[in-house]
Amino acid sequence: MNDENWKVAAGRDLMSLGTRPRMFVSGSGSHVTDSDGAEYLDFLGGIAVNSLGHAHPVFVEAVSEQAATLSHVSNYFTSPPQLDLAARLKRLAGAGDAGRVFLANSGGEANETALKLARLHGNPRGKGTILSLEGAFHGRTLGALSITPKAAYQDPFQPLIPGTRSIPATEEALEAAFAPGDVAAIVIEPIQGEAGVRELPAGFLARARELTREHDALLILDEVQTGSGRTGEWFAFQLPGMLPDGELPDAVTFAKAVGAGFPLGGLITFGAASDLFAPGMHNSTFGGNPLASHVADRVLAHVEEACLLENVSARGAQLRERVEALPGVAGTRGAGLLIGIALERPVAAAIVADALERGLIVNAPGPDTIRIAPAFTIGDAEIDQFIETFGASLAAVHEESAA
Ligand SMILES: *Cc1c(COP(=O)(O)O)cnc(C)c1O
Repeated sequence: MNDENWKVAAGRDLMSLGTRPRMFVSGSGSHVTDSDGAEYLDFLGGIAVNSLGHAHPVFVEAVSEQAATLSHVSNYFTSPPQLDLAARLKRLAGAGDAGRVFLANSGGEANETALKLARLHGNPRGKGTILSLEGAFHGRTLGALSITPKAAYQDPFQPLIPGTRSIPATEEALEAAFAPGDVAAIVIEPIQGEAGVRELPAGFLARARELTREHDALLILDEVQTGSGRTGEWFAFQLPGMLPDGELPDAVTFAKAVGAGFPLGGLITFGAASDLFAPGMHNSTFGGNPLASHVADRVLAHVEEACLLENVSARGAQLRERVEALPGVAGTRGAGLLIGIALERPVAAAIVADALERGLIVNAPGPDTIRIAPAFTIGDAEIDQFIETFGASLAAVHEESAA
């Protein structure tokens, strides 16, 4: 397909996304190649998805061996990969014997499952309110959208799910929201990804845990973006300072990085929340099929065996130190390899466009924030290339806007 054809075809045949700046045809490691043969350093990682980069041998082998063995059997049955993945996720999340795992296909679908869990907990108790935080992003399906308080996303699709309400991320707002006693659950991203990689105020998550216990409500964490190793821990709630020692959430959703590019998401429950769904109450035809489950299980096994979480933490720290030294950068936020770069001026869109021309993929979740979420496998070479190219974009955009 020639250059003009793919742009025309994308605008005509694909729904909802509008025009796109490039068509990518292949990838290897942290690099992708476009339809003109130009190479790019991928520091967005398909929005925090490509945990092993592109075409990683572990991923390729996992897809191939399972595709040649058994791809799909429906939820009337189970399969070894499904059981292996569930056991691994329970162990990594510290869910213990009482934990359970529901396997789905995306982050939005994982959060739909969490909302149904909230109803199952709240309905018998006469609690109909599900809280989320201002700035949150939980997905575009109607339920997940109902707890994603952004007018531009919500307004065309009203009315949304009743009982959903968002509050500011302050302890005062939290206390006021729980006071009436009608809260079934609160859904929280431990670090808000789409809002620009924004951390919660210190002590906020611990206070949410206290209040949910006090008021018999569920603490549900959306770790679709922060989970599966992205922050240097398996889940962000395991980072120091998130929850008091020995405390756990009632449920955690995951997706993005878990399949390293294979679509898979799901929900892990802890303790009593694991018994809310009775058999047959919730299901997904594709969810947890042997192919997706095997790929995710092998990806997580590789992250464990190759000690990649250590690399995520070390490379994250190295990147942040070097980024913070660049002119035009006000600071950085996040954890591990989920990094928000705060710019001194609201030129993020111009930086993204300039960087793409120079062969670097990043994105702008806000006018003064650049987000990077590179592969867990990056090393010095990728970091050097990133700093050089990103630094050049910062300088060029600064010069342009000064002129
Ligand atoms: C991406 C994301 C979602 C939605 O996931 P999809 O797979 O796009 O449905 C939900 N929550 C968070 C925190 C996300 O980053």
